[in-house]
Amino acid sequence: MTRPTPGNALKQLQHPLFENDPEADVTFCSTDGDMFHLQRKYLEANTGAFPGSEFDTRGEITHLTETSVVLHLLFQFVYPRREPSIEDIDFETLYALAEAAEKYEAFHAMTMCKIQMRSHVSKHPLEVLSHAARHDYPGLIQDAVPHLLRKPMVDVIEQLPTKFIVPWVRFRESWDSSFEQAIKGVLELRVVPPNTVTKHAIYFSRSLEPEICSICMVSVLTTLYKLKEMETVEDLKEALTKKRAKQAGCLSSACQYVNIVASTCANLKTKLDELPAFSTFVPTAAAPHNITNVSQKNNT
Ligand SMILES: [Zn+2]
Repeated sequence: MTRPTPGNALKQLQHPLFENDPEADVTFCSTDGDMFHLQRKYLEANTGAFPGSEFDTRGEITHLTETSVVLHLLFQFVYPRREPSIEDIDFETLYALAEAAEKYEAFHAMTMCKIQMRSHVSKHPLEVLSHAARHDYPGLIQDAVPHLLRKPMVDVIEQLPTKFIVPWVRFRESWDSSFEQAIKGVLELRVVPPNTVTKHAIYFSRSLEPEICSICMVSVLTTLYKLKEMETVEDLKEALTKKRAKQAGCLSSACQYVNIVASTCANLKTKLDELPAFSTFVPTAAAPHNITNVSQKNNT
């Protein structure tokens, strides 16, 4: 990790914030060649994995595998100064900072990165999940999973710690079964034949059970399959409330497509909204049978 480096060649790349401290007794170099002179006592006090005072670098430069941007942020968290603002940094930098904070056990940076990761969870759920799973942040895992419902099952399971895999499969199953029930409901509708129904029959048929023509039934089913494949849960829930006009190719004046598609989408949205949160599928130490209980509850 450490090796002697010609000081003159790198001097011009010293970082301003960590450049002129006369009490600095340790020097780090980023992957892109910036130098950071720090006081070891702050590293000792505020991190768990940087070398302590018993490790004398004798003026050698320690080369780290992080970029200058990441180290600049990281070291500010370690020093007794106002912490850097990380609310507006891009996700890639935040992720690299969070990983560096975990690697060097920069405790305050670890906490702040974990909090900040939450605001990126809808756009980068798999990456947030990966970070949360590797560093054991169950709360962050649970924040990420609802955004992963539309991702392929395998992609998610690959990132999950073992204890979350079965809960995830069950959570996903309960979500998918809401769609299956909606599709089944449409398939069970009475199909009205093309243009053979009298006005009188329309009145009675509408009052008894909804009817749909075959063309419109295919359209409702296609809508449901498209909804099921939507990228994000947010888009899905918005699409479920969208108004849909009468179909151009509708075969019968008795067909109730508009009402049927609206009620099918509304019922599906209610079902999805009412699904238990992912956290309820995860067993706790105090209640090891929680999964079974929730699963049974869902089936009733
Ligand atoms: Zn129709």
